[in-house]
Formats: sequence, structure tokens, C-alpha cells
Amino acid sequence: MKERRKIVIGVDLDGVCADFYRRMREIAAEWFECSPGDLSEDVSYGLSEWGITDRNQYESLHRFAVTQRELFKTMPMIPGARKYLRMLSDEGYRIRIITHRLFIHYFHASAVQQTVDWLDSHGIPYWDLCFMKEKEQVGADIYVEDTPDNIVQLRGRGLFTICFANSTNRHIASPRAASWREVYEIIRESAPGAE
Ligand SMILES: [Mg+2]
Repeated sequence: MKERRKIVIGVDLDGVCADFYRRMREIAAEWFECSPGDLSEDVSYGLSEWGITDRNQYESLHRFAVTQRELFKTMPMIPGARKYLRMLSDEGYRIRIITHRLFIHYFHASAVQQTVDWLDSHGIPYWDLCFMKEKEQVGADIYVEDTPDNIVQLRGRGLFTICFANSTNRHIASPRAASWREVYEIIRESAPGAE
């Protein structure tokens, strides 16, 4: 086989590897002092279904979740993330984790620590870990992302972006993956670098 540069897969964490909305629902139930069953599982970006009406409220809940409930360390893994990322890594792709988690001032040490603890304890393989808001600047060849605005922005720059499906991104066009198995199949069959 000809020696070639590795294809870089830029992988988002929240909503792609880590089940952000499931853990946030538990924490939001504490925040609102209600039962998790009272909060819809069918949420849109910004969580208006849970009664969050503006950015300040969202940021308060998020700050509580990260600083008081170790959100970044306690989210369950989305099934398949470990298995399929390991397969892709073994097949020669370079896994680059990209996350916009440093949005709380003076809390960076804990945010980074929670993140690396989570990645190690869940056995997620990766070579690079980028804490970046502007995801297109990390130079991946393929992106896996769930936030609608990020997907639109990446695709707008001509970057191959797989939408990891959840209730916040139903309006986003294909390529879409409903599971990690589908992410794997899209990457092997139709993404840049596919044979
Ligand atoms: Mg995300």
C-alpha cells in the first residue's frame, strides 16, 4: 500500500461520544426540583422544552452542571463510540477530539481534567485533543458533529461533516448517522479517503 497522510476525523464530544442530553436531564431535574420524567426527552438546542427561555438561564444551568455535578465526567458514553473509534483508529485514521468546553472563565483546569478523565475511563482512542470553538480551524478531513449551527458552518466551508442524529438536528440534511455503526459505514464508504 502506498504511504499516505492519515485521514483526520474530527470528533465532537457532547452529543456525539457523550450522552449530553441524558445526563443534563437528570441534572436539570435537580435544578428545577422535579422528576426527570417531567422533562421531555425530545429537546431542541437551547432546551426550551424544559422551560429554559433565554441564554442566561441556559448558562446558569450549564454552569451548575459542570461545576457542581461534574457534567463532563459523569455523562454516559453513547454506545458504539469506543468500539467504532477504536476500529477506525486501528484502520489508520487519526482521531482528533474537538470540543468547545472552555466557556466558563477560571474553571479550565477542572473542565480539562473532567474531560481527560472521561476519555481515559471510557477507553476512547485519540491522538489530539482540541478545546476550540472554531472547529473548522483544527483542520480535520471528516467531522462528526451534532450541533446544527456547527454542521451548517462546517459544510458551508466545504468540509465533509456527518450529522450525528438527535432531536436537536432533525432538520439537518444527510449525511446523517443515527448510530456509531452508521458513522463507521459512512466513513468507510463515502467520506474523504474511502476506497
Ligand atoms: Mg456536540
